[in-house]
Amino acid sequence: MPELEIWTASWVWLDGAVHADAGLVTDGRRVLATGRLDALQTRYPTAPTRTKGRYLGPPLANAHTHLDLGLGPTFTGPFPDFVRYVIGRAGRRGREAAVQAARHASQHLLGDIAAREEVVDWWLAEAPAAGVVYWEVLGLVPPDREAEILSATRERFERWKRLERAGGPRVGLSPHAPYSLTPSLMRRLVVLAREFEVPLQIHAAESPGERDYFLRREGALARFFREQGWPLDLHPTGLSPIAYLSELGVLEAGPTLIHGVQVDEADVRLLAESGSVVVSCPRSNLNLEAGLPPYDLYLHHGVPLALGTDSRASASSLDVRDEVVLLERHGQPPERTLAWAAAGGRAALGLAPPVLQPGMELEQVEFW
Ligand SMILES: [Zn+2]
Repeated sequence: MPELEIWTASWVWLDGAVHADAGLVTDGRRVLATGRLDALQTRYPTAPTRTKGRYLGPPLANAHTHLDLGLGPTFTGPFPDFVRYVIGRAGRRGREAAVQAARHASQHLLGDIAAREEVVDWWLAEAPAAGVVYWEVLGLVPPDREAEILSATRERFERWKRLERAGGPRVGLSPHAPYSLTPSLMRRLVVLAREFEVPLQIHAAESPGERDYFLRREGALARFFREQGWPLDLHPTGLSPIAYLSELGVLEAGPTLIHGVQVDEADVRLLAESGSVVVSCPRSNLNLEAGLPPYDLYLHHGVPLALGTDSRASASSLDVRDEVVLLERHGQPPERTLAWAAAGGRAALGLAPPVLQPGMELEQVEFW
């Protein structure tokens, strides 16, 4: 009979949450039991207890990346300057950059936004990870261009849906952000996503300038629009970015929202009603001077949270554990943030809730 061991860690996934003083029993191949550590030690008195590190549980998910932005360097500074920085690096984006970045991604479960067709093709053909690759669309364009973008997007999804394999990554759609598409293009893309039954991921309420732009057509993003010569009358005013997405019918589709930093309680209520998951990328938010989301407000209203690193252009690693470490320094306990990364991440990617239960193969369990 193989020797049994009790495994524990500082934080252990048990019954849908992360706990201290919990563990599992294993024969080296499978999980035989899970439970409170003292109960396991009473039930298996001869099994030695091994401490496996800080975390023991289902694998964590990095619910928001842009692998095709490559490996940096990491930008720090105000959001409009970051947009200029990303635009300036457009020529370097692509499959090679994504392949390189995927090698540095610490989690195997990713929500990745791709801005190049070859990157989606690569994801679906070679599956660098499990999860979802979202096709990114931007468009502050006149109606005739909108029709072109929509029909090109439709053709891509007709092709990509045929390339999806059972158990492999899924293709999704990311209308980039409320401010970077016209209202009609945003609405029509969401209709298209529902038609193809693909998941949605949208950046929203990230920088203070985004909120100022929507509410009053003021601030850093409005200035950036003026500098670029983009029209300032494309979007309604007087609504927050989240209220705008709600009015447009976008929240009804249950998109995953990335960032959700600049929100008030009314916004959080709208998100709670829609069932949207909010993916927080705190290192990116601090690097781009956006601040941190009101986590306690989200928890109070029962909005599911997930964690993402964002790209290496705004975070120094593609390891979601670094978000947990940062948030601990900002007062968020790891039992909370690890649950966001384990359970919230799966919810953000449309996957079944994580489990740690008897009968599982040990290789399905993550510890570090
Ligand atoms: Zn992003």
